[in-house]
Amino acid sequence: MRVAIIGSGPAGFYAAEALLKRTDTAVQVDMYDRLPTPYGLVRGGVAPDHQNIKAVTRVYEKTAARPTFRFFGNVRLGRDVSVEELRQHYHQIVYAVGNEADRRLGIPGEGIARCTPATVFIGWYNGHPDYRHAQIDLSVPRIAVVGNGNVAIDAARILLRSPAELEKTDLAEHALEALRNSRVREVFILGRRGPEQASFTPVELKELGEMEDVDPVVLPDELAGCTIPETAGSSQQEKNLKILQSFAARQPAAKSKKLHLRFLVSPVEVIAGVDGGVAGLALEKNRLELQPDGTASARGTGKFETLDVGMVLPAVGFAALRITGVPYDGKARIIANEDGRVADPDSRAVVANEYVVGWARTGPQGLIGSHKPASAHVVGHMITDGAGIETRTLPEPDAILSLLRGRGVQVVSFDEWKQIEDAEVARGARRGSPRDKITDVDAMLALLAKD
Ligand SMILES: Cc1cc2nc3c(=O)[nH]c(=O)nc-3n(C[C@H](O)[C@H](O)[C@H](O)COP(=O)(O)OP(=O)(O)OC[C@H]3O[C@@H](n4cnc5c(N)ncnc54)[C@H](O)[C@@H]3O)c2cc1C
Repeated sequence: MRVAIIGSGPAGFYAAEALLKRTDTAVQVDMYDRLPTPYGLVRGGVAPDHQNIKAVTRVYEKTAARPTFRFFGNVRLGRDVSVEELRQHYHQIVYAVGNEADRRLGIPGEGIARCTPATVFIGWYNGHPDYRHAQIDLSVPRIAVVGNGNVAIDAARILLRSPAELEKTDLAEHALEALRNSRVREVFILGRRGPEQASFTPVELKELGEMEDVDPVVLPDELAGCTIPETAGSSQQEKNLKILQSFAARQPAAKSKKLHLRFLVSPVEVIAGVDGGVAGLALEKNRLELQPDGTASARGTGKFETLDVGMVLPAVGFAALRITGVPYDGKARIIANEDGRVADPDSRAVVANEYVVGWARTGPQGLIGSHKPASAHVVGHMITDGAGIETRTLPEPDAILSLLRGRGVQVVSFDEWKQIEDAEVARGARRGSPRDKITDVDAMLALLAKD
């Protein structure tokens, strides 16, 4: 049976692993990625100062080493190849394309200079080719990061780490240079609800208190009245609250930078200065209102304040991009599906032999490890639905490669990716870091052409 997996992030790799471990049917997996480099957000999202997390790629390398696996990098579904063509060349298709769009704040002033979506900032410091030319102006002393998840924490940490801390990481060279010269001294992480509703994980929150040159600041007022619910699953909240209380009780160690964690505030307007860029952020104070389902939502109190910041980074969630020919759920902003089977968004009728895994299936929920069981679950559907499907005759396995090459697409194999990686590691060794990423697709392709 031949399967195309579109996207080489964790969800795609775990789906490949589950398929290739099948003993009942011989499966051949072709994994496509729009970039010449694999691993999705493990390379382009996970923070560069968390190298231990990036080590998960060693597991994916084992999957890629199987003789029944091929990597087709630098091929974008919807541009270089169509869904209809994939249907002709494969028995089943798995979409693992992640969430590459941002959710917006939806407030006046959002589009002005120095109001930069988290995707852009994160892609920029991680050396993602799409964002290598992003304009990130770090001449401002204060920055607001809007959102109460780990992505907001990552962005704040990278903004405030010392050059010595950053030099040990695989931060993109252009970002390292800009951060060495950064004038940022204070970052505000803003949550519209309270500390109990924040989706930070405790390890990441605690790390904010352990940085070389940064004092965490929490207003005791914004923790007042916090209670730890007695419900199951409250332990993350409990741990977070204890960490925040310890930050609030700390005597500032007079470090040169400050990280403020603010709660119960919603941005209502990004204020422009004389240069047309961000000069402040208007906030409304909120109170919590308990909903019948037990959740707490934020309600504005009509009391406002203006935060004196020169840059705003909204980190309020992500969404899947639309791909021509793939059913899209415009409300949830994911690939329309019924438990991983692609489905028509209106009639809910399942599209035969097409599946979706990872963030493209659920939206931005779940850490890397959570995709292993989730992708295996969807592979279970593929096995049930696909009984006998391998008897359908397909074109030769290399016919799809001829089609792509005939269009002038330079398809990058896994061995070629390893050549790119070797070059990056060698460059990194010169600056004393795990790798120095090549951020330009043409430069990656030129490197391969030389060999
Ligand atoms: C900033 C950030 C930091 C994170 N840090 C952590 C962390 O520290 N620990 C942790 O456990 N989790 C972390 N996560 C979460 C983790 O990265 C995700 O759970 C996981 O990467 C989602 O996997 P995925 O395979 O669904 O999508 P992705 O990892 O996004 O992979 C999608 C892949 O699809 C490719 N693609 C997209 N469109 C096309 C197309 N049309 N044609 C071909 N290819 C395409 C992309 O190039 C990409 O390679 C972080 C997430 C973010 C955003």
